[in-house]
Amino acid sequence: MKAPAEADLQRRCDEMLAAIRTGGMRLTPQRSAVVRTLAFSTEHPSAERIYAAVKADFPMTSLATVYKTVALLKQLGQVAELCLGDGTKRYDAARPFPHPHLVCTRCGRVVDCHPASLQRLAGELARETGFCIESHRLDFFGCCPACRTGQKSPRG
Ligand SMILES: [Zn+2]
Ligand SMILES: [Zn+2]
Repeated sequence: MKAPAEADLQRRCDEMLAAIRTGGMRLTPQRSAVVRTLAFSTEHPSAERIYAAVKADFPMTSLATVYKTVALLKQLGQVAELCLGDGTKRYDAARPFPHPHLVCTRCGRVVDCHPASLQRLAGELARETGFCIESHRLDFFGCCPACRTGQKSPRG
């Protein structure tokens, strides 16, 4: 899949910062760093991974600050939360709306996927059941190509 352009990542970063300011929340350097880490990560990081990245620049940051900032962004509709089967949570700021994922059960890698048939399926279900479908949860679990070939997979 094509990697997102730097300009797109910067735009998402600015959008999230603006959302926090518009929401009347204080934008501390630590919060900004959490936003930046989320915006520039394409790996669906966990709170712990965000924490490790932010701590490198702001050693005084606490894990609680990361959790609070992520919860705030979630509340503002700026980040999607993905609950993995093992209870861990991962975050996606690039696509803050429901979308399917491929999850590697060996290395924990999470990848977005865009099955063309998903819209069709949702339409079909809506017609059959009379539901107005507003959201969905669909994740696929398995073994990623790197794990299948026994290579050490990239972080993520
Ligand atoms: Zn893997
Ligand atoms: Zn995603």
